[in-house]
Order: sequence, then structure tokens, then C-alpha cells
Amino acid sequence: MRLTLTERREESPGVESFLFEPAGPLSWRAGQFLHYVLHHEPTDDRGSDRWFTVSSAPSEKHVMLTTRFTPEGGSTFKQALNNLKIGEQIEISDVDGDFVIDESGEPCVFIAGGIGVTPFRSILKELDSTKKKFDITLLYANRDESIPFKDELEAIARRNDGLKIQYVISPERIDEKRIRALIPGSEKPIFYISGPEPMVESMTATLTAMGVPKERLKQDWFPGYAADENQ
Ligand SMILES: Cc1cc2nc3c(=O)[nH]c(=O)nc-3n(C[C@H](O)[C@H](O)[C@H](O)COP(=O)(O)OP(=O)(O)OC[C@H]3O[C@@H](n4cnc5c(N)ncnc54)[C@H](O)[C@@H]3O)c2cc1C
Repeated sequence: MRLTLTERREESPGVESFLFEPAGPLSWRAGQFLHYVLHHEPTDDRGSDRWFTVSSAPSEKHVMLTTRFTPEGGSTFKQALNNLKIGEQIEISDVDGDFVIDESGEPCVFIAGGIGVTPFRSILKELDSTKKKFDITLLYANRDESIPFKDELEAIARRNDGLKIQYVISPERIDEKRIRALIPGSEKPIFYISGPEPMVESMTATLTAMGVPKERLKQDWFPGYAADENQ
């Protein structure tokens, strides 16, 4: 299917959202991702396709892709994306992914590393629109105080007692002490971790060492970024 670019939004310096209108009906669950193809020449060894989370909620109707551009220019794919003009098109296929929340309303801790916040933005927007009760703490690590989606997330938290947000700004890190402080007594939340691959690996190791069982851990890995790049 083809998507037509309708709007671009700067979320923070270097982080931009691309809003698209699908050529036909497209359904996805908050937290899922799409496969994108953007033909361009010349193409570097990373190729002309990528996966990106749909950072918009299904209730928003448009498809939104949010990404970070490196100041050094980055891959040829990112350069081609950055050159995309309103009205131009991109190809997508394969809505996929199980980084979605179940409807049980169990307490959850969302751990985001930088641009890894995209599935959480979609999930929280969707919950906000459906007015369902939830109990979520978002631990959001970012490289600096320019935090993508900060205003939107805080607006959701103001409307919903069930959302608490804590920012962790580099050089601070999300560690065991910080996680323990979030979990009162015997509470056993479900942990969702999303971010650059090395960050997700290290958070998984920390939580596993803390005794969190595999079935209460969900991960979304973003390959292609170094550990600290988004924090
Ligand atoms: C399920 C899933 C969901 C994802 N969701 C998102 C999302 O919502 N947002 C998002 O931004 N990403 C997401 N990603 C990651 C995305 O697919 C890209 O891998 C990522 O954005 C990096 O893009 P890039 O390879 O174009 O590199 P760039 O962003 O251009 O660069 C990243 C780093 O790689 C270096 N680099 C660039 N090109 C090369 C090269 N040819 N060889 C070696 N090093 C190079 C750069 O210098 C920089 O350090 C997701 C991935 C998956 C699998």
C-alpha cells in the first residue's frame, strides 16, 4: 500500500514526525510497526527498507512515523526520508508486532530509551481516547531535556490519574534502584522496554536479575542505533 505525506512535525531538535494518509483502509494496534520501502539512488549498505513503529494511535486515523536524524547525515534511507515533500509517497507493508498491551488493566511499567518512546506514545494516546482505566508508570530516558512528545504525554497524565511519568536525563541512567523505588511492596507489574538494542538488552538483564519472570517482560528492539544514542 502507498502512504501520502500530509504533514511534518519537529518533536525536538533532530527528532521529526511524518504524518501520512493511507491510500486505503489500514488497521493496526497501538504499539505495532510497519515495513517501509523508500526507493532512492545511490543506496548505502543499509538498503532502502526499514521498520518503524506507528507512533500514532489507531484513533488518530493517520499513520505517523517518528525518527531521529543524526547530525552527520546518517544513512541514505534517512536522507531520502528527510527529503520527502508533502504530497509525496512511501510504500508500506506488513503491519506486525506483539508489543501491545492486553486489556487486563494490570499495572505496567513502560521503560523508554529515547526514540524508543514511539510505541508508548501510540499506546497512551489510544488509552486516553478510549477512556479505559489503566495503571502505568513511564520511565523515559533521554539524552537531554529536549524530550520528544513531552507536552502530549504530560497532557495525557493530567487527564488520567493512572499515568505517572519520570524522566531520566543522561548522564543519569535507569537502574535497579530507580525501578525498585517505583514498585511498592508485593506489586508485580508487567514491564515493557523499548529503545536501542543494547539498552533493551541491558534493561532485560537488570530486570531478570531482579527476579522479574520472562512472561512479565516485553521488549521492542530498535536496531541501528548505539546504546547511548537516544538517551
Ligand atoms: C520493530 C521496529 C520498530 C522500529 N521503530 C522505530 C521508530 O519508531 N523510530 C526510529 O527512529 N527507529 C525505529 N526502528 C529502527 C529503524 O528501523 C532504524 O534501524 C533506525 O532508525 C536507524 O536508522 P538508519 O539505519 O537509517 O540509521 P541512521 O538513523 O541514519 O543512523 C543511526 C546510526 O548509524 C550510523 N550509520 C548510518 N548509516 C550507516 C551505514 N550505512 N553503515 C554504518 N553505520 C551507519 C549513523 O552514523 C548513526 O550513528 C525500529 C526498528 C524495528 C525493528
